[in-house]
Amino acid sequence: MSLPFAAELLLIGGDWRAAEAGETLPVEDPSTGAEIGRIARGRSADVDAAVAAARGALGGAWGGLAAFERGRLLALLGHAVRERADALAALEVMDVGKPLTQARADAIALARYLEFYAGAADKLHGSTIPFLGDYTVYTLREPHGVTAHIIPWNYPMQIIGRSVGAALAAGNAAVIKPAEEASLTTLAFARLATEIGFPAGAINVLPGLGEEAGAALAAHAGVNHVSFTGSVEVGIAVQAAAARHVAPVTLELGGKSPQLVFDDADIETALPVLARAGLQNAGQTCSASSRLLVQRGVYPRVVEALARTYRGLRAGPAARDLDLGPLISAPQKARVERYIAAGIAAGAAVLARGEIVADAPAGGHYVAPALFGPLTGAHVLAQEEIFGPVQVVLPFDSEEEAIAIANGTRFGLVAGAWTRDAGRQHRLARVLRAGQVFLNDYGAAGGVELPFGGVGWSGHGREKGFEALYGFTTVKTVAARHR
Ligand code: NAD
Repeated sequence: MSLPFAAELLLIGGDWRAAEAGETLPVEDPSTGAEIGRIARGRSADVDAAVAAARGALGGAWGGLAAFERGRLLALLGHAVRERADALAALEVMDVGKPLTQARADAIALARYLEFYAGAADKLHGSTIPFLGDYTVYTLREPHGVTAHIIPWNYPMQIIGRSVGAALAAGNAAVIKPAEEASLTTLAFARLATEIGFPAGAINVLPGLGEEAGAALAAHAGVNHVSFTGSVEVGIAVQAAAARHVAPVTLELGGKSPQLVFDDADIETALPVLARAGLQNAGQTCSASSRLLVQRGVYPRVVEALARTYRGLRAGPAARDLDLGPLISAPQKARVERYIAAGIAAGAAVLARGEIVADAPAGGHYVAPALFGPLTGAHVLAQEEIFGPVQVVLPFDSEEEAIAIANGTRFGLVAGAWTRDAGRQHRLARVLRAGQVFLNDYGAAGGVELPFGGVGWSGHGREKGFEALYGFTTVKTVAARHR
């Protein structure tokens, strides 16, 4: 299968060109393991050129646009993405191995982010501040300048939408480093932006390896803000690199997010959400609900229903749009299988597993979903982010115990609680350590409008919603004395 555009080119200053060193990297279809194309292998010389192009755009056509004009361009881009949602989804199916329905949802989410930030661009403003009588004081909300966006492979379109969409709305010029495993929809997005007339240099795209293009970008002295979404380990390295030139960093890292199910919950409503929130994108979701805490009174009923669901799950080629597609790569599959084996070795019982369809290509990276339980909060499978189709069930007796287990990992991204007790709902909302708390629901992707981010090892800073615009701007105070 050939790709619909020249994917081996990168975008710098409005110019689609080969990487300076002329090198490329393979694009693999995770459903088959086959190479389906090549992308550019950007390196530090390309990073230098991209940062210079972004700086030039700020001093030129892009920087000269009024806020409402930036909003209009973002609205046009959102419209173009919405119109091409099927084509973008088809690219994600072959690049990420995402089942078609989930890939299409990502494309629509990208359009929604662009529409949201299009509307917000001219509603972001400073304030006037009462001060001494002979002063007029006001604040200006200004873009950082050149923003770097380092993107993981699991939700390229959604993360481009929430991070690049907000940065552009606020007037920054973006340099995007997509993941080497999944660059195609980012390249397609940038092609649409070029077509609808984004000024040259406002959006630059540099595919390449993390340790080459990514590291060079994070360390570049010309970058004024870094938005990183990915693993804890790399996030720490990116923050350290940015610290050398004192650039602010937003870190969107991993999670081990719990859902708490109390005896008084509406179990029938909760059940489909419990499993789905852990298995979306084959569990390769930072906000996946990988821990299910269930109170003893409903434990047998919940576990029996979950096990039934798991036994009916099927993993197979992404284009067949089954419950799960493959994992992104052979190393990711090996990592998940290592965790499953280690969990069993550490005494975890498998409650149920789904299946891999019999005709799934042998070269694809499939893992049958696995449900474990009952576990304690300290078990390795209940502590570490597996990033695959694995959920664990942990029984609890009291609300205090549930809170201790829920808060008992180093992560804090999302939490969900199912209970009809209104007092408990609000107690939990306050004490659960997470950037988002859902009551009687769980949204693994949250929502475009809802601020999102972590505490602890899940990161810091917020993206999504209006809040993101504060992160992509800085405040200048102007104090004018009347004389
Ligand atoms: P990763 O950290 O390996 O890679 C993320 C990005 O960083 C890629 O573009 C990669 O090329 C780049 N990179 C790698 N090494 C680098 C370096 N030394 N310097 C600069 N950049 C470098 O993560 P991944 O495996 O692609 O994604 C999985 C992880 O991302 C999981 O831990 C998951 O929880 C997390 N994640 C978090 C969120 C969130 O919003 N909190 C969303 C999606 C994924």
